[in-house]
Amino acid sequence: MSDECIFCKIVKGEIPSYKLYEDDDVISFLDIGPANKGHALVVSKLHYELLTEMPSELLQKMIIVVQKIAAAVMKATKADGFNVLNNNKKAAGQLVAHVHFHVVPRFSDDGLKLVWPNKEYKEKEIEEYMDKIKSVL
Ligand code: 5GP
Ligand code: ZN
Repeated sequence: MSDECIFCKIVKGEIPSYKLYEDDDVISFLDIGPANKGHALVVSKLHYELLTEMPSELLQKMIIVVQKIAAAVMKATKADGFNVLNNNKKAAGQLVAHVHFHVVPRFSDDGLKLVWPNKEYKEKEIEEYMDKIKSVL
């Protein structure tokens, strides 16, 4: 737990949330600043900042809740699709430093741009990136 953290406060019930689901390890509630209405967050009850810091058993539990919430959000909002997003660190757009997944319902005409423009590798560069990443796996 972190005293300053807004999601820890929600977990502890110190600030209210529009709760969708809760079990011993995971909680889900509506995002107060939704990308589309019905945008939900799936949050670990324990405070970890990054996906890469949390125990894999907890991540397994979280992703199963993500699947459950995504199905319910799709059904309830009659969405045409959904995005699952997880931001890590400021450079990637993480505003709340407590690990969470976004479940965003998508509609064919919602105008959201969650797709990035593609960059290009130079010759041999893609192999270099593959080797670099594989060497620290
Ligand atoms: P991040 O950018 O860290 O991936 O996403 C943080 C999300 O938390 C944002 O979409 C923001 O709207 C949401 N958020 C921030 N504060 C609160 C809050 O107090 N309650 C709820 N329900 N959502 C919050
Ligand atoms: Zn926290």
